[in-house]
Amino acid sequence: MFDFLNAVHLTDIADMLAVSICVYVALRWVQVTASRGLAIAAAVFAAIDLLAIQFNLQLTAMLFQFGLTIAAVVFVVVFQDDIRRAVERILLAGRWRSESHASATQPHIDTLLRTTFDLAASRRGALIVLAGEERMDTHLDGGTELLGRISQPLLDSLFDPHSAGHDGAVIIDNGFVTRFGVHLPLSENREKSAGLGTRHRSGLGLSELTDALVVVVSEERGHVSIARQGELRRDVTREELEVALSSHLRDIKAESRPSLLERLTRHPRTMLLSVVVSVLAWLAIASDRDVVQRVFVVPIEYRNVPATITLPPTIRTEARVTFSGTDRAFQFVAPSVLKVSVDLAEAAHGKEQFTLTESSVRHPTNLTVYRIEPRTIRLKD
Ligand code: ATP
Ligand code: MG
Repeated sequence: MFDFLNAVHLTDIADMLAVSICVYVALRWVQVTASRGLAIAAAVFAAIDLLAIQFNLQLTAMLFQFGLTIAAVVFVVVFQDDIRRAVERILLAGRWRSESHASATQPHIDTLLRTTFDLAASRRGALIVLAGEERMDTHLDGGTELLGRISQPLLDSLFDPHSAGHDGAVIIDNGFVTRFGVHLPLSENREKSAGLGTRHRSGLGLSELTDALVVVVSEERGHVSIARQGELRRDVTREELEVALSSHLRDIKAESRPSLLERLTRHPRTMLLSVVVSVLAWLAIASDRDVVQRVFVVPIEYRNVPATITLPPTIRTEARVTFSGTDRAFQFVAPSVLKVSVDLAEAAHGKEQFTLTESSVRHPTNLTVYRIEPRTIRLKD
């Protein structure tokens, strides 16, 4: 055990850390958007593959590696939209909005609470987006710009079913309505949006892609829902909405943006799972680094033998080749793959001596040729 701990280098820790972060980002993305079935299938494939490598089940490992490749292709084709969004999200996350959120205060929260529950009580549908820290321009469509300080009369007029602009969402940023009649992206999470109408699905959709908080007032049921971080909480009470609004406004008011560490540790269970996955993967693959050498007797084939030449009966038909590589690389070598190949075309011009080099030896790329005996092939004794 202590030997094992000594064998873990700093670079291995960096290696595992990098993999953990990639796994974490992938898992978060799967949790938020992609279809679970395919993700689970891919994880099972990868796990079986790792186990097969660990226990040297060569054929099984090959089969599942092939399966994983196919799964990766299917994944890219099926989820090209999600992938585009995820990339967009990663790229946009770096561009923090520059305005300060100075004036997000209690009066705003009171106005929002009152308006929201009045709208719900009178069965008027509404969709209110409270901007977070991330930019969301690329996810919003249409609408009309406005720079109006929020007030109940303003929001009431904007959601008045007789008004031309009541369809769609109102965007609130830093205490101002900045846009109304906006079209939001629908959630593509089939599981979470099952049974939802388009208003709720679009609120959920924006919350999957950005850190905005979306308040949805249902026209049909007269209740209020909150979409945040890809989750829709339905039929919330006034108190619950108040807590959500204050915590959201507090978050974006805080001058400090969430650090990478904060963003990564927001979901501790997922983080833990990512670390476990990367450590297991390291144990299965990267921990194997002892380089060993092995000798194989490899057949020699002669190519392009000129018609004018007869090969002497004493010519070498086998070479002793010493390969170096990791233990595991050797376990995957099928000896029948190894071959030394000598091109004799130049013998037609009188060449009698041919040197064997690494490129004369056909071998797996994860092995290197350490020594070849004999070094040269002579056509005449
Ligand atoms: P409700 O509970 O109020 O009926 P719902 O979730 O069942 O809501 P729908 O009945 O489909 O949704 O509501 C349609 C209204 O939702 C539209 O009139 C429009 O105002 C709004 N809406 C629908 N899709 C979007 C969208 N992509 N972006 C913004 N608003 C939308
Ligand atoms: Mg409806």
